[in-house]
Parts: sequence; C-alpha cells; structure tokens
Amino acid sequence: MLNRWGSILRYLSLAEPVWRWRLSGGSCPNCSSHVFVSLGCSAFLTRCLGCRANAVTLATVGVLRELDLAHMRTHEFSSYGATFEFLKRLCPQFTFSEFFPGQPAVVDGIRNEDVTRLTFATDTFDLLTSNGVMEHVPADIQGYRECHRVLKPGGMLIFTVPLYDTPTSVQLASLTESGDIVWHAQPEFHDSRRGGRFSAPTFWRHSLNDICERVQQVGFRSVELVDVTLSTVQGEPTRVIKAVK
Ligand SMILES: [Zn+2]
Repeated sequence: MLNRWGSILRYLSLAEPVWRWRLSGGSCPNCSSHVFVSLGCSAFLTRCLGCRANAVTLATVGVLRELDLAHMRTHEFSSYGATFEFLKRLCPQFTFSEFFPGQPAVVDGIRNEDVTRLTFATDTFDLLTSNGVMEHVPADIQGYRECHRVLKPGGMLIFTVPLYDTPTSVQLASLTESGDIVWHAQPEFHDSRRGGRFSAPTFWRHSLNDICERVQQVGFRSVELVDVTLSTVQGEPTRVIKAVK
C-alpha cells in the first residue's frame, strides 16, 4: 500500500499545479462517462472521472471496442488496469499474465510469462494486448516475434508504449548474459502497480517514426498507428499500435 501511495504521489508530482487542472467533455469507451479531468496536457495525465482510468489505457479500450471480443481468444500482459478489466468483462476466453523474473510459473495466482519466451503453443490467440510493457523488454523485437508466433493467422497484437518523435527508437539499456543492466543513457524507471515505485527499468524510448517497422519485421502482415483522442484537453492523441498477423 505504501508503494501505491508512493506511485500516486509520483504521478501528482508530474501534474500541473491544481489550479491549472481542467475538466473537459469526452466519451469514455470503458464506462460511458462524459467527463475527463486533465492534470496536465498529456493523455497519461488525463483521466476519466467515471472509471478513473487514464486516457492511454482507455485509448487501447477504444480500439478493442471495435472488435468481436465475444468470439476471440485473448491474452493481456498485465493483471490490472482498464484494458485488463474491459477484456475480463467482455471476453469469455480471456487469460492474463505478468512477468516475474526468476519466479515459478504461477505467482500469487497469476501466470508468469516472459514475452520473449512465451509458453503458449503456436497459433493460440486471436488477440494480444499490453500497455506500457514493451519499453521494459530488453529484446523487444524477440517479444514481437513471440507474439506473432502465438497469434493465429489474422490475429492481432494491440498495444501502447510511450512514443517519442525522434528519428529512430533509442535503446537506453541492455542486459548482460548474467542479467545485469548496462545503461547507455540516463537511467529511467517506471512505476508498476505490482512492483512499486521505480521498479521497472526502461530499456527503450520508442520512436513513433519506426515503431511500425520494428514490429512488422517479425512477419506481421500489417502494422499501423491508430490515433485516439478521447478528451479535448489531453493534447496529442494516444497512438495505439495495431499489428495483424
Ligand atoms: Zn471511464
């Protein structure tokens, strides 16, 4: 719980002063609320007042709403959040996992999956989803390759990562063979609801200019960025990556 409060305080430290917070209209794809609050001019700092999810994960939900989820076998690479809750509610064939390095196959009742070495059979899923996961995967391309392998033909990988308008993606860190982190730039860590504050080293700053190529090179038939704007005060749209096998 201390970790949770720490993460909330860290989140608030990114926000504008409270007198600059703004309410706006919009349409939440998760709970149908029409009011958003923006603690700063970004989707990450913009939240639905109904379900309290941020506009990044809600953007993924917005893309998922277009799909025939009742008939899809789906897997989400986290155990909480708006995307997780939405799929759990609407998909009869829904599974999920977290990654606990060096831990058993199931931890606290949650399946342990390394996205670069998935334990699922080839051609298993119609849909894979994640938010804020792939920037924490040192061998992210191997992760896309594994996602492609376990998707059925026509299956989709739909996910978000923080995207920057740089010429190419930049690798911030890599792992040695013994599993130690080597930083190539200023160390950066993200919070995780399970791991706590600063628990997730960030290995990549992905570029919106090459992310589609990075994903497509493992064999996806098509990869596109879907721009999603849910609230008038979120600033830039959230770009959801949609890859089809
Ligand atoms: Zn909502």
